[in-house]
Amino acid sequence: TQSTRPQRLLHAVQKNATRGDPRSVVKAIDNFCRQKEWAMNVGDEKGCILDSVVSEVNPVTVLELGTYCGYSTVRIASLLPPRAKIITLEFNPDYAKIARQVIAWAGLEDKIQVVEGPSGEWIPKMKEQFGVKTFDLVFLDHWKDRYLPDTKLLEDCGLLRKGTILLADNVICPGTPDYLEYVRNSPRYKSQYFKSHLEYTKAEDGLEKSVFLG
Ligand code: SAM
Ligand code: MG
Repeated sequence: TQSTRPQRLLHAVQKNATRGDPRSVVKAIDNFCRQKEWAMNVGDEKGCILDSVVSEVNPVTVLELGTYCGYSTVRIASLLPPRAKIITLEFNPDYAKIARQVIAWAGLEDKIQVVEGPSGEWIPKMKEQFGVKTFDLVFLDHWKDRYLPDTKLLEDCGLLRKGTILLADNVICPGTPDYLEYVRNSPRYKSQYFKSHLEYTKAEDGLEKSVFLG
């Protein structure tokens, strides 16, 4: 059955992408979203900015907030150096199930841990449950009112180090005004906007890249 959009997206991957080829998985999802049904992936245009940040940071530990179908997870994981890992949090079990299948199709299971549950509950357990010291890169792409409280939680839990990069999607559309205000004005961050467009549309949106200064 393919009664939900994530199920139809997964089907498009299994039909059009090559097993074990992450870039073909990304391409199959972008084609599906451009030609058939819009979906809330970071998308191809902002995805290129995401790729360049991942390549520049060359992170060993990555946290993603908001997995959905695993599109950005696959994009990030395919660029990670050997032994690097990404933990991605998703509180919707139906989405997490689809993401695991998309990730398996891309052949990236060894690099990715999909963790089910709300970010506010998992962040305080990260060190204990996953043996993480600090993250090199955090990609924020879950519900927009959670960016700021979860950033403060990451700070309080000691999960950021001097030089950790926060990369936040959708800072213009739908928008994250309280988060932007915080990272742009806090002396603990150096922040920069990358102008782009909302996934699969011409509406302005962008990514905010913020360096944690400690
Ligand atoms: N990063 C994905 C990509 O670009 O392919 C898209 C993620 S989608 C925009 C946001 C996802 O975050 C949704 O699947 C939603 O269920 C999940 N989510 C929202 N708030 C969350 C929270 N507090 N904890 C965990 N997951 C959350
Ligand atoms: Mg997004």
